[in-house]
Amino acid sequence: MINRSLVGRLWFAMVVLVILVMFFLGIFLSNFFEDFYFSLKTRELIDYSQKLAVMISSAPDREGWESELSIISKYIDAKIIIVDRRGLIRECTIQGRGMHRGQKIEYPEIERILQGETVVNRGIVPGLDVTVLTIGVPVENNGEIIGAVFFLSPVEPVTQTVRTVQSYILYGAMGTIILATVLGFIMSKKITKPVLDMNRVAKEMAKGNFNERITTESEDEIGLLGNSLNHLSSELQKSIEALSTEKDQLKNILASMTDAVVTFDVNGNILLMNDPAVELFSIKERDKGINIESISGMPELNEQFNLAMKEKSHIKSEIPFNGKIFKTGVTPLRNDKGDIKGIVAVLHDITREKRLESLRREFVANVSHELRSPLSLLQGYVEALADGLAGDEKERQKYLDILLEETHRLRRLVNDLLDLTQMQTGNMNMNFDRVSIKELVNRVTDKFTPLFTEQNKKLGIFVEEDLPPAWGDEDKLQQVMINLLDNAVKYTPENGTVKVDAFAREDTIYVSVEDSGPGIAKDDLELIWERFYKVDKARTREEKGGTGLGLAIVKNIIDAHGGNVSAESEPGKGTKITFSINTTIKKHP
Ligand code: ATP
Ligand code: MG
Repeated sequence: MINRSLVGRLWFAMVVLVILVMFFLGIFLSNFFEDFYFSLKTRELIDYSQKLAVMISSAPDREGWESELSIISKYIDAKIIIVDRRGLIRECTIQGRGMHRGQKIEYPEIERILQGETVVNRGIVPGLDVTVLTIGVPVENNGEIIGAVFFLSPVEPVTQTVRTVQSYILYGAMGTIILATVLGFIMSKKITKPVLDMNRVAKEMAKGNFNERITTESEDEIGLLGNSLNHLSSELQKSIEALSTEKDQLKNILASMTDAVVTFDVNGNILLMNDPAVELFSIKERDKGINIESISGMPELNEQFNLAMKEKSHIKSEIPFNGKIFKTGVTPLRNDKGDIKGIVAVLHDITREKRLESLRREFVANVSHELRSPLSLLQGYVEALADGLAGDEKERQKYLDILLEETHRLRRLVNDLLDLTQMQTGNMNMNFDRVSIKELVNRVTDKFTPLFTEQNKKLGIFVEEDLPPAWGDEDKLQQVMINLLDNAVKYTPENGTVKVDAFAREDTIYVSVEDSGPGIAKDDLELIWERFYKVDKARTREEKGGTGLGLAIVKNIIDAHGGNVSAESEPGKGTKITFSINTTIKKHP
């Protein structure tokens, strides 16, 4: 805790500093006081002892100094010993063992004193058991040393004084530590609070909340830092908002696109894909870790990716995938410096365009083909007649009949084509009127009845009673019924059944023609409405006589009526074509 917080560390440093300073100050002061006291005391004692030595030397033979000694001893608070030249005690103010008159003093330095030196010493002396300051001076008489004087002063008071000083220092240190602690608290308010505030705001910013601000009052470095952080937060907020709107826009664009869009990083890992892409590659989850190599079934995309990375340019191509054809564009994504940061691939489904394109090509080929066969027939017979190849009148008549029939066929074909073109360019002449669907169905089915009996097929008619009249062009609607019934009977095998249904729901009439024929495959179902589209292309005109225009005409007529036409079919289970048409109640648009 102390180590982690700034104030804790400051406090710790302060305390250590105080303790160190006080410790050395204590040692220094104790020594200083001790030395000072001792030097003072020593000088004083030397002074007294020398004075006493002079007194003694002035009366060397005098005995009985007790009264003077006791006065001096009390006055200067020191014990006094006087010894003679041999070191034997003459006078002594200490009452203790080994300190009797006439006894040899047990003092190691005695010889040096008796040779004329003044000796100062500190330590325990025998007979006194306490530490004392000992001063020994020689007593001289006429240049001859006749003894020595000892002053012994207890050091107790000095130690006491030093202890007092030391305890003052200790109290001072404790007081400083308390002061440092209080100061630390104040500092923590002044320094730590704004710093903690900044920390909180920065954390909120990391979470995406830019509304928190630091309330800084001070104008010092911390205040400046707080202001900068506030500024940073508001700038970041603006940038992030701008970025997220941009991102949203991009997301919306991607989501509304019908093309599949995938972006990869340079290693081919998917970064982003829209719904059509997820669906196309049947990816269960938008797992960002998916690599381009693991997108199954489309190795070409991987090749294009590598090519685009190598050539650093846009690569276009067409790729077949899952029975569809995609126009693909693979483009490198660059950053500001122009380095490639990824690849974006756009896949556009062009299956329908491709099919229509081939249908268009087929259409031209078909028209030419459909026209060429009757034309060459006509040419052949006309040439035969012109060359007089017909043997007799009967044969000539037969040739002419064939010519007439082929001419009718040709005319019908050309009429159909013309009708279709007119319908598709919107130039259809329509005569709208009330049309009774019941009558219409009956009329058309009557025409087909001989065919049904001949081919042993059953025909069922189910027209709702009191069906309201439809609003349409009777001739055109009759054409629709004929074309549908023609198909039904043509594609239903012998003993098959054809069913015609008509009923009204609200103001719409639904008419359907259902057969028990071979049905139409799902892929062909949407294309049967195209001109010249035939499911079985190998089938010759002679076999079933179809040109693939019937349903195209049906669709165009129903469209012109504002109705709908649809086909339901499953291979092997027959086909049902239903069209809807408005009743007279609803006005035609
Ligand atoms: P046309 O009607 O011009 O004589 P067609 O019958 O071949 O020629 P459409 O009526 O336009 O042309 O039909 C298009 C194709 O749809 C047909 O060639 C056939 O393959 C398929 N088709 C139409 N109706 C049926 C049906 N009832 N059962 C099975 N296939 C059908
Ligand atoms: Mg047909």
